[in-house]
Amino acid sequence: MPKDFYTNNNLPEAIYPSCPINRVLEGQTAIVTGSSSGIGKAVAIELGKAGADVLINYSSNKQSAEEVAKEIQEYGGKAFAFKADVSSEVEVQAMFSEALNQFGSLDILVNNSGIQQDAPIDEMTLEQWDKVIGVNLRGQFLCAREAIKIFKKQGVKPEISCAAGKIICMSSVHDIIPWAGHVNYAASKGGVLMFMKSVAQEVAPHRIRVNGISPGAIRTPINHEAWSTPEAYADLMRLIPYKRIGEPAEIGRVAVWLASDNSDYINGTTMYVDGGMTLYPGFESGG
Ligand code: NAD
Repeated sequence: MPKDFYTNNNLPEAIYPSCPINRVLEGQTAIVTGSSSGIGKAVAIELGKAGADVLINYSSNKQSAEEVAKEIQEYGGKAFAFKADVSSEVEVQAMFSEALNQFGSLDILVNNSGIQQDAPIDEMTLEQWDKVIGVNLRGQFLCAREAIKIFKKQGVKPEISCAAGKIICMSSVHDIIPWAGHVNYAASKGGVLMFMKSVAQEVAPHRIRVNGISPGAIRTPINHEAWSTPEAYADLMRLIPYKRIGEPAEIGRVAVWLASDNSDYINGTTMYVDGGMTLYPGFESGG
């Protein structure tokens, strides 16, 4: 039996499968934004386990980013940490040129960086609005634009992948579930959804695939308050038909699949990885 995460109320820690290492991304190179923590870190590590070389982008925590790079090197891949604010055009451009300098090519971009700055709408400052849209939406545009320039130039390298490049946009269930008190975040993720689909349509003829992952509640620092006490966890479970929180590696494994040729005919689609959070859990008992 798995050990209980909260010993006094019998809530399971993650009962989720561990998967064998499958080197489906051997020879490919990736940039994962915001990968010094949480979901980005898990995505970078799973890509590394699958054989990819990875640039670990961070905005402030150099030490954690270097630890992630070291872990990937232990799986045999190249990896290095690079500081860049994804909302800054110059810093994003510097990051992509460094990836090319170090790896010689680029096959995968995971647009993962994201932040929350919550407030009731009538108290939200322009700074809070702009900051969240800047990192969550402008950041995805700036990174995708640089990646697409490189993918178009490279074209398809059949010995590496069927596609000229793959972009994965980290969104959220809040790209379709409205979220009171978080309108800047929900608006940014709704924007990411339509950005992802429009870019996918535009660049598909170049054999570039663009897809989204919309996580539900995943155990990371961004939502620490929602799972760190038994009361908060129990409250959270009302929203999740599958009755457990998700783990970052579960998002990482979906990212590996979306980046691999196993999903070559998947384009412009969002994978909701949410334990059923988008299934209207209020109707669980029949409504
Ligand atoms: P996190 O706080 O651990 O990760 C966010 C990352 O973004 C951090 O590494 C941070 O350094 C980076 N970042 C912040 N500002 C940046 C900037 N200006 N430039 C570059 N990087 C920057 O939280 P997380 O849960 O791992 O979030 C990762 C992504 O997953 C986010 O896009 C978030 O919206 C999304 N998401 C998370 C959940 C969840 O339940 N944890 C649910 C839905 C969506």
